[in-house]
Amino acid sequence: MAIVSSITNHSSLPNDKGEERLVDSSLLREEKKLSTKDSLRPKSFEEFLGQSELKKVLGISVKAALSRGEALDHLMLYGPPGLGKTTMALIIAEELGVKAKVTSAPALERPRDIVGMLINMQPRELIFVDEIHRLNNISQELLYPAMEDRRLDLTVGKGTSSRMRSIDIPPFTLVGATTKPASLSSPMRDRFGITQRLDFYNHLDLEKIIKRSANLINLSITDEASLQLAKRSRGTPRIANRLLRRVRDYAEVYSSLKSIDVKIVNDALDLHRVDQRGLDQTDLSYLGLLINDYGGGPVGIETLAAALGEDSATLETVVEPYLMQIGFLHRTPRGRTVTPAAEKHYLLNLTKNSTYE
Ligand code: ADP
Repeated sequence: MAIVSSITNHSSLPNDKGEERLVDSSLLREEKKLSTKDSLRPKSFEEFLGQSELKKVLGISVKAALSRGEALDHLMLYGPPGLGKTTMALIIAEELGVKAKVTSAPALERPRDIVGMLINMQPRELIFVDEIHRLNNISQELLYPAMEDRRLDLTVGKGTSSRMRSIDIPPFTLVGATTKPASLSSPMRDRFGITQRLDFYNHLDLEKIIKRSANLINLSITDEASLQLAKRSRGTPRIANRLLRRVRDYAEVYSSLKSIDVKIVNDALDLHRVDQRGLDQTDLSYLGLLINDYGGGPVGIETLAAALGEDSATLETVVEPYLMQIGFLHRTPRGRTVTPAAEKHYLLNLTKNSTYE
């Protein structure tokens, strides 16, 4: 299977201060350059750990498409960044034995970007469009007949002499990925035959992912240390792999042990200020603001974003989903509120490290 990538521009950018977070589940700058050659990326359903229901559903669809000799139905994958949407799309292409093109909505801004992509397709090819909710209206209008009837409707000429020309295109599979399914227009949503959600990973699955990655980079790590790392990885394989690399760096400098043990993990991640639940300064500042300045909430997202100097979309897609997942935050119609568990964790952190705000 060949992978053609025109970028992988994931959802969130560094904050206004230009800083990147170690526990940001989007790709960091250095990772963007490497993302298509990611050596840790699983290449088959077997290597893709966790998400058993998703694998089952997609495995059946892939087998059925193969036995009919048809292109797989258009597929929408949604869930927070770093959970494996791109990886899964590439695995599906591999299993189908077809070429995969990887792109994202910001790279398909002009009609000619979409037209160029669709016209040059091989039959049954898979096209992965990241952040599909960000496609503009013109691009969406071009995609509808392509997805439904394998037809490109082009306007040729200008002004009164312009006319519509339709071109047939080969069968193909569009895999759209989004962190914000609610932002997808409903005609677009309706054109996906299969829609699947990726969930945060539990500690056990993350532990397996960490062990697999450690093995691939020739690193020895104890069971206890992998579990400790898993607990701090925010349910996200991308973060688990990133933290593993930082722990390896730390161990190379500060340890002579053959295996990474739990003390090395704790020391390395304490140094990077990633706490026992995977929270960093941004999360703690967010919780601190809610707890100290607003009595625990409810507070509107824009107020929080302005006070923290963050983009509200980043808070919504990167910071809040994990806080909600671990039961620290509720989104209510009146705004955000913290839970008693969050207050307890925040206070514990305060007593542990007086510099936390
Ligand atoms: P997304 O497209 O959802 O942002 P990616 O597919 O780019 O996420 O996954 C991020 C990284 O995490 C991948 O490079 C891969 O190494 C790792 N990864 C993701 N899902 C899994 C999994 N189920 N098993 C093992 N590694 C995974």
